[in-house]
Amino acid sequence: MSSSSGRAVSVIGLGAMGSALARAFLTAGHRVTVWNRTAAKADPLRAAGARTAPSLVEAIGASDVIVICVLDYPTSAGLLGPREVGAALTGKTIVQLTTGTPADAREAERLAREIGAAYLDGAIMGYPRDIGRPECVILHSGAETIFNAVADLLGALGNNLYVGESVGAAATLDLALLSTYYAAMTGYLHGAALCAAEGVSLEGYLGGLDGILPIVGVSAKDYATRIADRRYAGDQATIDIHAAALRHIVRASRDAGIAPVAEATSAWFEKARAAGHGGAEMAALFEVLKR
Ligand code: NDP
Repeated sequence: MSSSSGRAVSVIGLGAMGSALARAFLTAGHRVTVWNRTAAKADPLRAAGARTAPSLVEAIGASDVIVICVLDYPTSAGLLGPREVGAALTGKTIVQLTTGTPADAREAERLAREIGAAYLDGAIMGYPRDIGRPECVILHSGAETIFNAVADLLGALGNNLYVGESVGAAATLDLALLSTYYAAMTGYLHGAALCAAEGVSLEGYLGGLDGILPIVGVSAKDYATRIADRRYAGDQATIDIHAAALRHIVRASRDAGIAPVAEATSAWFEKARAAGHGGAEMAALFEVLKR
């Protein structure tokens, strides 16, 4: 696609992720203007065809759509807060791709409304290397009309999914999915430390992983229906049995002299038992966690 056929987009924030976003817009043939607090980070993008704006206000002035990807929402609010920046944003569309909480998203939408800008919140479910690939999921929430107006442009970044009018929905789903991801990866790395301490090869560990990962997906789907129906009786494994396995993990960690990271999880299973869910399937843990 030639650059003249693309849309104008400004990317604010050129860390690892913002730079990947800008590059993907360039690759798709859009007219990209970039700005970053540390100006030198724009150099590789200028070499790749981006226009570098000398100031944030000028970066905003260059495009109707402003994509922001900085450290966090307070940083974003600090950048967009000054009066002259707010004035430049009036009538523009802000696409916020910084990670934050649902409350952060609601506050950002409120600030955007105050300055007369359209606001779409987003959450990227991938690493910078994934940006631009069709399988890279990006969640968006806010007014559907705003999403529809920028969907073709955002198509340069990956698979954009609209998840609802409630502006906090993308951040909520992002954090729920990250909760799964971090628990899984911490468990995986803890397992690697246990294998290393006991002299078991990581190759063997990876082989076993192929067996357990599909169970995670199947269980997640099963638990969704169980939570919806509050139906926790079953014949596979009780919370008592899972609690015992967690105690073994904690004890083996201590024996091996490695961090007993499963301790916190173990404590929640013990709480579930104390609350009378010992004979239920693991999904009943939801009843304890939701409080
Ligand atoms: P980086 O640390 O690489 O970049 C941080 C960016 O924020 C830089 O542009 C930095 O500017 C800017 N920044 C930080 N503090 C300030 C400040 N006080 N004033 C102005 N600008 C500031 O982080 P990433 O690019 O990796 O992440 C950016 C966002 O993207 C985060 O919210 C992150 O959670 C999200 N994200 C990242 C993913 C990843 O895999 N990296 C995945 C999904 C989401 P400067 O260069 O001047 O320091």
